[in-house]
Amino acid sequence: MKIIMLGAPGAGKGTQAKMIADKYGVPHISTGDIFRANIKNGTELGTEAKKYMDQGLLVPDELTVKILLDRVADQDCKDGYVLDGFPRTIPQAQVLDKALAQLNETIDYAIDVDVPDENIVKRMSGRRACLACGATYHMEHVPPKMEGTCDRCGKELVLRDDDKPETVLNRLKVYHDQTQPLIDFYSEKGVLRTVDGTQPMEDVFRSIVKILGA
Ligand code: ADP
Ligand code: AMP
Repeated sequence: MKIIMLGAPGAGKGTQAKMIADKYGVPHISTGDIFRANIKNGTELGTEAKKYMDQGLLVPDELTVKILLDRVADQDCKDGYVLDGFPRTIPQAQVLDKALAQLNETIDYAIDVDVPDENIVKRMSGRRACLACGATYHMEHVPPKMEGTCDRCGKELVLRDDDKPETVLNRLKVYHDQTQPLIDFYSEKGVLRTVDGTQPMEDVFRSIVKILGA
């Protein structure tokens, strides 16, 4: 089962992707997490990606596509995966399509987690992330058991630099200009499914399970 999560930054793609990965036993692949891990480890890719991420811009396709194609070629992806934050541009989607076509494969579902812009800034300013294990929380909606500490690995939770309100507005603009056209792209392929992302996260997940099958 190959699934793509679509939606604005902060719509809940990562939250739902992790739940899908747990239930269906496929890897959750987040290009944002891969970049953040590279930044943390001080790699060349991380240094380059950070320049764009800090401004709320997309990392260039040349850098992004390669890391994604390498990742989906790993053995644990042979029965499928859930992509979170990739593709974010039409050229990225075309490269993925081409790579899959060579293997006689296609994307099964592109799930658009639909949340209006008004809700997004609030979601992002309340998000707290664990840069060690990738877990995310929300101060109001999904609080950790102990403030400032990750339930899963005990490391410190932070407000991501790119979740500050001024950067979030840039990211929303970039989303509308460059990523939203993917909704038509996957709709034309007949694989687009839309869920109401303003519902509580368990209800969003129930809607997704209805689409994917139990
Ligand atoms: P994305 O991966 O799309 O950027 P996240 O999954 O990280 O978004 O979610 C953004 C923030 O909103 C996080 O703080 C998360 O805990 C919170 N969140 C996710 N889904 C919901 C929901 N259905 N209702 C309220 N808050 C949510
Ligand atoms: P995310 O964790 O998905 O919110 O991504 C955080 C940031 O990483 C984005 O704002 C981009 O700067 C960068 N990024 C993640 N995925 C991609 C992608 N597919 N294409 C370009 N940039 C990306």
